[in-house]
Amino acid sequence: MIRYPGATLANVNALVDAEKPGWRADADARTAAIVAAGEFSKGPPSWSDIKVVFMRLQSNKCAFCEFPLGGEFAGKATQDVEHYRPKNAVKAWPKKSKTPKYAFGTGGEGEGYHWLAYELSNYAAACKACNTARKSNYFPIANVRGAVGATAAELDAAELPYLIFPLGDADEDPETLIAFEGLVALPARPADSHAHRRGRITIDFFGLNKREELWEDRFRAISALFEAVDVAKTNPDPARVEMARRRISDMTSTSGPQAACARSFLRLLEQDPARAWDYYVEADAFVLKEREKRAPKLP
Ligand SMILES: [Zn+2]
Repeated sequence: MIRYPGATLANVNALVDAEKPGWRADADARTAAIVAAGEFSKGPPSWSDIKVVFMRLQSNKCAFCEFPLGGEFAGKATQDVEHYRPKNAVKAWPKKSKTPKYAFGTGGEGEGYHWLAYELSNYAAACKACNTARKSNYFPIANVRGAVGATAAELDAAELPYLIFPLGDADEDPETLIAFEGLVALPARPADSHAHRRGRITIDFFGLNKREELWEDRFRAISALFEAVDVAKTNPDPARVEMARRRISDMTSTSGPQAACARSFLRLLEQDPARAWDYYVEADAFVLKEREKRAPKLP
């Protein structure tokens, strides 16, 4: 997960106005009706109509796992507008019968945040695996649920959410909370801190270390990076070196595939190349083994 610094509310507002004039006025009217009724009711407007604004701001990657969203012409099949705070009743996470288990509270169930259903600062574009399969109506927090009608900033202060919100600059930079060792996401901050728990829970919640599509995506990213760094360091042809440098810059930019993993790996390549090589070999063996496990057993 990386921060999308350009996705501030001011920018989102301007882009929504350009994409769908009148959407925000309709959203305000809908919010007023929802607040008066004290419960969520669906639009107009439709949040799907402005999904493309978030996809563009997020370089067409899922806000939580960085998996490609399939492009703006792919239709609804591969992406959703995700409500960070659920519009409907909040379910307890983790479920009682399920792992992981934590030695600390995660907020239990609660009323939904119906007044934020049409609030643009509550939206992100997410892949189906993150949104439909995992996010659903969960919203784990460290403290007590905030008051009905409170703003996102007031809620953040009161609730201490565990899930990281990567758009704009209202929340902490995800890369200060989650780092990568090879393909593996790990909490970046000291144990027994809220920041550490945010990293741990975000990783567990979205299954960031359990999804084959993410291992494969990350492995492609670090393989390409490894090769490009090798060319940049050793190739005698200045044109090839320049091309490799441009690729490294591109791969670790906001739009780079699995940029958080790629940036962690580039730092390691610069600081400790021997350890980077070990991680690379380990990742290579892991991905090959997983592919073999899933290969069809043909007669
Ligand atoms: Zn995702």
